[in-house]
Amino acid sequence: MSHSGSVHGDVEEVPVLIVGGSLVGLSAAAFLAAQGVETLSVERHRGTAIHPRAGHFQLRTMEVLRAIGLQDIVRRAAEEQYDLDFGIAAVESLAGRELAVFIPNLNEGVDAVSPSMRFFMTQQSLEPLIRSRAEQLGARLCYATELRSFEQDGDGVTATIRDLDSGRERSVRARYMIASDGNRSGVREALGIAVKGRGLIAHSVTIYFRADVAARLMENRRLGVIYINNPVVRGFLRMDKGNRSGFLAVNTVGDTARPESSRIADTITPQIALDIVRAAVGVPDAAIEITQIIPWRTVADSAERYSQGRVFLVGDAAHTMPPNGGFGGNTGVQDTHNLAWKLALVLRGIASPRLLETYDGERRPLGTLTVEQAYSRYVRRTAPHLGIETTEPLVDDWNMEIGHHYRSTAILSEPEDSAQVHTDPFKSRGRPGTRAPHLVLERAGKRLSSHDLYLRNFVLLCGADGEPWVEAVERLASPVLTAERIGTPGGFRDSANAFGESYGIASTGAVLVRPDGFVAWRAKAAVARPQEALANVLGRILSAAPAATGGTPGGTGDSLREIGV
Ligand SMILES: Cc1cc2nc3c(=O)[nH]c(=O)nc-3n(C[C@H](O)[C@H](O)[C@H](O)COP(=O)(O)OP(=O)(O)OC[C@H]3O[C@@H](n4cnc5c(N)ncnc54)[C@H](O)[C@@H]3O)c2cc1C
Repeated sequence: MSHSGSVHGDVEEVPVLIVGGSLVGLSAAAFLAAQGVETLSVERHRGTAIHPRAGHFQLRTMEVLRAIGLQDIVRRAAEEQYDLDFGIAAVESLAGRELAVFIPNLNEGVDAVSPSMRFFMTQQSLEPLIRSRAEQLGARLCYATELRSFEQDGDGVTATIRDLDSGRERSVRARYMIASDGNRSGVREALGIAVKGRGLIAHSVTIYFRADVAARLMENRRLGVIYINNPVVRGFLRMDKGNRSGFLAVNTVGDTARPESSRIADTITPQIALDIVRAAVGVPDAAIEITQIIPWRTVADSAERYSQGRVFLVGDAAHTMPPNGGFGGNTGVQDTHNLAWKLALVLRGIASPRLLETYDGERRPLGTLTVEQAYSRYVRRTAPHLGIETTEPLVDDWNMEIGHHYRSTAILSEPEDSAQVHTDPFKSRGRPGTRAPHLVLERAGKRLSSHDLYLRNFVLLCGADGEPWVEAVERLASPVLTAERIGTPGGFRDSANAFGESYGIASTGAVLVRPDGFVAWRAKAAVARPQEALANVLGRILSAAPAATGGTPGGTGDSLREIGV
């Protein structure tokens, strides 16, 4: 693909062009549509994924799907495939010894911190659900259509796309382009964005099979992912409901001291695949049918930049990682959630384009950490011969899922802030840069989560004595800011009286939460001029002006007027 091209015939105009319609591209389309942004997606394939790939989805992924009304639909579909409280363990083989339990119950302890849940589900079942939600919300998706080339200038991106059936090419002019075109991203390459990391670490294969014997061996085992670790094969297994079919992802086989013998992707035949699956099942003469063998590359790399001009890399185009830990697709979905509201506010003329720079600033450090954490889990769970001492220590799964700590011009950090990319979500308590805590609220007899308030606008949450904040929001009359009172008649009931404690403020304080549910700023108690304080904070965030650390910013609010809030 070239990073230039020419315009032929009629040019179609669209605010955002999305390249790639797999898990992450579809999520971008859905989140942007939910923000009211018109998009056009092009995807080379004729439809959504046909291979299971991702299966382990994080709490945060369900939280962001909940924000676009997908939680119940996804939960029901996931429960048809797996139980929500399945776990992850390592065994010698299905018939052999249990070696370790990594996660006994995927959803243990989740209720206390989230309105959502983790889930196991095949990627090929999840994608159509996101696709249909995106289409319901107005996204346009063109399958069997590929991006051929693109060029960008000061005002937009001009792309040449081709209908693969007719061979017809046409031009699309977009204000911004999102590259969700996977780990071998042609867009990334055309932009000359390098990747760095551990590189290619294994030539892997996924073997799909049917094995009735597995049903007996899996009886009473509540496992969504089963790592296999024996002298013949190292990888992981996922069984379908009923446990008579599944797939085995194989990272290494045979003697790991001789890397050439473990280059399974080059040498595999149906007979070798059968031997490998039998070794994983642990029954040497088991009747097993091999239905498909798919080679893939295990890579641990991050792009050096997540954006260039008007083009943004998301998902595997930005970071490719081993599947261990189940981070890859999840991180990609969450990339697009971070980007969508920023693009929406810029396209609406409410925020400065500088806000878009915070996408790289917030997501890249996290992506780099996640790639390394996936690698650390890969080495520990599957490839210890690579040397555990060469890996980063494991970061707790809670921190990895809901403990993200952003620092950028779209966050007004507090002075005692550390520089870590992740934090313990049980202790973050409304600290700017972290995910706003979940709180059970009630109004007019209806129970909801505080997360349900964070959709298209900034929300200022204030406590029982926060009337001056509410008045300040009213006087400010910003189209992107609303106020919510917690724990007062007329506001939301907080029956556990947990708001102040969870969000780290006094009853006179206030917390500003972004549309993606991250805390942008808080005043721990009342301030002298709340309207001015808010105007300054919002102005800084929307104009993405460099923010000095320190409590309530001063200033005159000029930046706010400049961008028309
Ligand atoms: C065995 C396995 C297990 C995994 N398990 C998990 C897991 O449990 N949890 C998890 O989160 N992740 C998991 N992953 C990772 C996950 O599958 C990927 O991270 C995810 O698919 C990335 O999605 P994506 O949309 O960024 O890229 P892809 O899925 O690679 O999609 C890119 C799309 O772009 C299209 N495309 C490329 N170029 C063009 C072009 N020029 N024009 C038009 N279209 C184009 C391609 O056709 C493709 O459909 C697993 C991966 C594997 C291999």
